[in-house]
Amino acid sequence: GGSWAEPVNVSGFEGWDSIGGRKSQIDALKECTLLPLLYPELYTALGVKPPQGVLLHGPPGCGKTLAARALAGSCHKAGLPVSFFACRGGDIQSKYVGEAEQRLCGLFEAAQRVAPSIIFFDELDGLAPSRSESGGEGGTAHQNAVVATLLALMDGLVGRGQVVVIGATNRPDLLDHALRRPGRFDRELSFGLPDASERLQILQLNVKLWPASSRDAGVGGASEDFLRKLAVEGTAGLSGADLRALCAEAAICSIRRSFPQIYTELTRLRVDPQSLQVTEQDIAVA
Ligand code: ATP
Repeated sequence: GGSWAEPVNVSGFEGWDSIGGRKSQIDALKECTLLPLLYPELYTALGVKPPQGVLLHGPPGCGKTLAARALAGSCHKAGLPVSFFACRGGDIQSKYVGEAEQRLCGLFEAAQRVAPSIIFFDELDGLAPSRSESGGEGGTAHQNAVVATLLALMDGLVGRGQVVVIGATNRPDLLDHALRRPGRFDRELSFGLPDASERLQILQLNVKLWPASSRDAGVGGASEDFLRKLAVEGTAGLSGADLRALCAEAAICSIRRSFPQIYTELTRLRVDPQSLQVTEQDIAVA
């Protein structure tokens, strides 16, 4: 049991247009997941082994999880018959000997039952830390067994095919080396910090709902020019998550400035969680 052994309901997931930039990573991710799942005969015809696993790595907030979700969302929107399974490395771990292995087996069995499937392991380093580095001398026997099980399950996919594994980590150096050998996570996609043109695309995504007038206010020029300047000069070194936080903060500052009463108002307003209807309530009476 456990929710990781059920396909994820991806009907509400956004597609590729939720991502700013990351063009080459998106193309590579599509190629090494969708081609082998939907057209396995292409590989057979050419006598090559389809990729089995792809490792996404890079600093936090640079789009690894976002890309995996967009892959699922875009498949759903396109009506492709691909099932998604997702779990965080740490969720599979257990203090009981043998339980993590059982969970992994259950996950892979479920994925094979409804193939073609994609299994996404977020924070893979939490599941499969290097056997030699963790727990000192050779790693604990417990952790060794979990990593060995994952390796065996990935090896077992060969030939039966139709399940592709995506792993994400911001510490690829902590992963067990055996996982990065051919037949396991044999493709690696680097999600580094966005460059200036990607930062511009991410900023544009984040402000797309902002009214044009507020985008121009106080900047002394067209908002596009301002965003471009901000992308090139003012935001070097920021991740996608940082840029989103920056835009959210700007929006909050703007709201605070335009509506000094807003926090007082908040205490008077009630939102019905079902209908999202807002009603006013007089605190003094209530
Ligand atoms: P972590 O290692 O922290 O899991 P991650 O690379 O998986 O990092 P994401 O979860 O993909 O990070 O990104 C966090 C959030 O930052 C996203 O939900 C999104 O709002 C924003 N973000 C990151 N990269 C981009 C991008 N390229 N375009 C648009 N938004 C982005």
